[in-house]
Amino acid sequence: MQLASRMIHGTLSKGISINFRLATSWHMYSACKAPSWTLKSRRFQMSTVSAVQIDVVPCLKDNYAYLLHDTEAGVTGVIDPSEAKPIIEVLKKKDLDLSFILNTHHHWDHTGGNIDLKRRYNAKVVGPYADKDRIPGIDVALKDGDTWMFGNEKMLVLDTPGHTRGHVCFYFSNLKAIFTGDTLFSLSCGKLFEGTAQQMWTSLSKIMALPDETLVYCGHEYTLSNAEFSLSLEPSNAALQSYYIEVKELRQSGRPTIPTTLGREKACNPFLRVLSDEIRSTVGIPPGADEVQALAAVRARKDKW
Ligand SMILES: [Zn+2]
Repeated sequence: MQLASRMIHGTLSKGISINFRLATSWHMYSACKAPSWTLKSRRFQMSTVSAVQIDVVPCLKDNYAYLLHDTEAGVTGVIDPSEAKPIIEVLKKKDLDLSFILNTHHHWDHTGGNIDLKRRYNAKVVGPYADKDRIPGIDVALKDGDTWMFGNEKMLVLDTPGHTRGHVCFYFSNLKAIFTGDTLFSLSCGKLFEGTAQQMWTSLSKIMALPDETLVYCGHEYTLSNAEFSLSLEPSNAALQSYYIEVKELRQSGRPTIPTTLGREKACNPFLRVLSDEIRSTVGIPPGADEVQALAAVRARKDKW
């Protein structure tokens, strides 16, 4: 069922500005009670056409895995499969093989499907070098700044520690998409299990440097609860108020709030808005506290919320 389509903007390397269509449709998968989405991004560059489909696959209670299929190269990958079964069901339904499993970090709810999927499809596991000893079945270990080709698409690896020691995000500049695992959520960031507020701020700052139109695919559907927390800190933020209404409608109809966009997160996410006077006043952050101290205070408040 086609729900919506919108024009988004791309630029050729020679500086010629082009438009390409991002068509959004969604599908039900029998293995999942919740609906999954398919995003088709088609780029038209000179005479060649490239197409990557991104499926949002609900797993466990509130995790999302993402299935990427480059229709031109015939390559399929999955990001953060917490369990194998929903992934297998989608692959069967779409009659696809699986070439790659990508992990943002070692937590079981992002890697739990690795071994089953690897055995079944002979897929290669790609993950963070810094945590290569904790990623089940890892074959390719990537470091900060590494590029890696997924089919015809170049993927840039960003080290984003804070939630875990070896967390990475996967950025596809041509698709204008980043997979952020448990570093950046819509309206929140990951808990600081193995890292510091300084590390998390540095990681979030790397992501914030990307274009505002970047689509953000995170590891969990936490947005409604995060929106309520965010509004408690910054009730007069108009962009946040309208996003809250949108999020409620999406969740009431069982649809994902993901992907979000980086521009929206900059306007609404309290962890990216630690310079906001209203947030600082609500949380009681002393004047003169820097961004890292402010982030630590907002994180501490959320941990108790
Ligand atoms: Zn995690």
